[in-house]
Amino acid sequence: MSQEMTTEFAPKVAIIGRPNVGKSTLFNIITGTRKAVVKDQAGVTRDIMIAPVEVWGKQFDLIDTGGITEAGDIFSKLIKEQVTDFLHSVDLIVAVMDGRSGLLPEDRDIIRVAKQTGKPFLLVINKVDRVQDDDMFKADFYEFGVDIVSASFEQRRGVSDVLEWITNNTPENQVVIQEGLNIAIVGKPNVGKSSICNAILGSNRMIVSDIAGTTIDSVDTPLVFNGKRYNLVDTAGLRKSAKREDDLEIISAFKSQEAIRRANIVILMVDGTIGPTDQDARIMQAILEDHKGVIVVANKSDLGNKEVPEYRKTFREQVERVFHFFTDVHVVFTSAKTNQGIEDLFEMIEHVGNQLAFRIPTAELNDFFFETIRKAPAPVWGTTNVKFYYVTQTYQRPPAFIAFANSPDGVTNAYRRFLIKNMKERFDLWGMPIRIFCMKSR
Ligand code: GDP
Ligand code: GDP
Repeated sequence: MSQEMTTEFAPKVAIIGRPNVGKSTLFNIITGTRKAVVKDQAGVTRDIMIAPVEVWGKQFDLIDTGGITEAGDIFSKLIKEQVTDFLHSVDLIVAVMDGRSGLLPEDRDIIRVAKQTGKPFLLVINKVDRVQDDDMFKADFYEFGVDIVSASFEQRRGVSDVLEWITNNTPENQVVIQEGLNIAIVGKPNVGKSSICNAILGSNRMIVSDIAGTTIDSVDTPLVFNGKRYNLVDTAGLRKSAKREDDLEIISAFKSQEAIRRANIVILMVDGTIGPTDQDARIMQAILEDHKGVIVVANKSDLGNKEVPEYRKTFREQVERVFHFFTDVHVVFTSAKTNQGIEDLFEMIEHVGNQLAFRIPTAELNDFFFETIRKAPAPVWGTTNVKFYYVTQTYQRPPAFIAFANSPDGVTNAYRRFLIKNMKERFDLWGMPIRIFCMKSR
């Protein structure tokens, strides 16, 4: 499957607020849905609603967060963290307040959490049923210094102000542009990191040119391969010829951590004739904890078993044993001595770069997700049927997703792995450490 990132993503607009303030009334007006229940009592269960909207030539996905932000215990640290996570995954936030009840402590909390995200944020003071009450009802809310409109959704008043604010603040549909990936090469001493670095930079196919913004003593090296730009992180450390003296594992491990931190993609280099070791497993853990794209490179393949398929099979088996927590990691075979595999390595880097940039429109993601869980529902947890409501992609890389469920604790690790596996299969995300978080919704 091609990973050309030509897909466009409509920005996400979340409607948040206490129960009963008018969130679903607003949602229904904007999306033109009549069927969703508008109820008159707090705490009535409602699923999260999402609908694509096009207004005045702008597209966005409107999300009625219902249960997520209504949770009465929004004061609890955990809920607050989850709500914050969720709000980070959207583009715009519209918080609805009930003007008649004035500013309540829960409102303050919601406003604070929303403001902290730094996303464009609109306060709507609803239920101002008489225009002449506008100023009085709004007065409570000026202290927050955010955009405010007053409204009476029941009378359709204020809706166009909300839409105007949304369309003025929605970013254009995003087209993911990817350039200048940072590549770090890490691994134990003597596996061939310097040699591969030299092979890469010395190769005729590379043009290490004076790309703007790089200085001679920069520790990183920009390079162009097959017309694409990359940045080799901490090449100075790798190329230093006198490095042998301080090549203690502990020092190189420390340097690796720094390189990993600055990289988008980490190449974990291993001596292919020996295979990965426990120490490599620890480096891999560090890479995964930092949420980076990763490629295992088996170097010195010129010394490997003359039976190439046999050599590769053995190595792959070792990978699956040592990296048992990440068995589908990408593997490329190289020889810094014969320059073999460098082309493959860059193909893989490009592939991983595309995987890192993977974005999927929310509707398509939910179609896939519900198709998957229909075929194999989550196992019953105690007496609870685990039910999912909605899933959305976060802005994190590698791709991460938040799934909202009635009982997130009931989502077993096995089931999560099952979801991740399906996801990788469907969207060609093999070798990517993607994550699915589960959050409570009711
Ligand atoms: P949600 O729980 O925040 O989604 O709130 P709803 O949209 O379900 O609305 C809760 C109640 O408030 C319903 O009975 C609505 O009819 C009522 N409501 C919504 N907007 C207004 C308004 O502008 N004025 C008045 N008086 N009531 C409203
Ligand atoms: P580093 O410590 O990981 O940077 O490893 P070096 O690049 O310094 O290489 C360690 C030793 O392995 C040197 O003697 C290299 O010549 C040798 N070496 C590196 N890559 C290869 C390779 O692909 N094949 C063979 N046969 N030897 C290699």
